[in-house]
Amino acid sequence: MSDPASPRVYPMRLYGDPVLRRKAKPLQATDLLTVPGFEPQTVRQVADTMLETMFEAHGVGLAAPQIGLPVRMFVAVEYEDDEEENEGQEKPLKSRVLRDFVMLNPVLKVIDKKKDRSYQEGCLSIPGIYEEGVPRARAVQVSYTDLDGVSRVIEADDFLARVFQHEADHLDGVLFLDRLPAEVTEDYRKELLAIQQKSRTFLNDLAAHERQRKAGL
Ligand SMILES: [Zn+2]
Repeated sequence: MSDPASPRVYPMRLYGDPVLRRKAKPLQATDLLTVPGFEPQTVRQVADTMLETMFEAHGVGLAAPQIGLPVRMFVAVEYEDDEEENEGQEKPLKSRVLRDFVMLNPVLKVIDKKKDRSYQEGCLSIPGIYEEGVPRARAVQVSYTDLDGVSRVIEADDFLARVFQHEADHLDGVLFLDRLPAEVTEDYRKELLAIQQKSRTFLNDLAAHERQRKAGL
């Protein structure tokens, strides 16, 4: 584990971790949050570290449950060249950031129902698995609270709309594989079992670490 007071990045919760299946709770910009394994932090500190975690993992979005926090917050980013829509690109992405987003209590409204299945989708909590065909609305409006506690509304279409829908799903315990035919999950059975095993090992280590911390070791 890294410095418990100010981690540079958080460990990623993986497929099989129960926190990814919980319905996350609303939060306020003034809350103090405790990411398991670390000291309490402000929402802004957690959001900054989530962005860093996302960049390091070459992602386009990261929801709080993915770092073990069941609260309704996600970060996302729009890159200069959104042709390269895959999470998991090799290049340093930070130089291509157009906008980044931190959204508290986001509520999505579909503004263009037309289903778009064209992009490949992946998830930082399900490393190595990418699939086309996840049906997503082509355009959405998102109402959310920002880090200053101000209510905001934005509209997004195409790839960014897909990112927001993927991240909002995480807040309801839904993963992108759930939106594909069950055969797809079956096809990846071996890979998913390996990820679940990794998740169990992580959770055991975290529990041991927490026990030591509580005992003041
Ligand atoms: Zn995801």
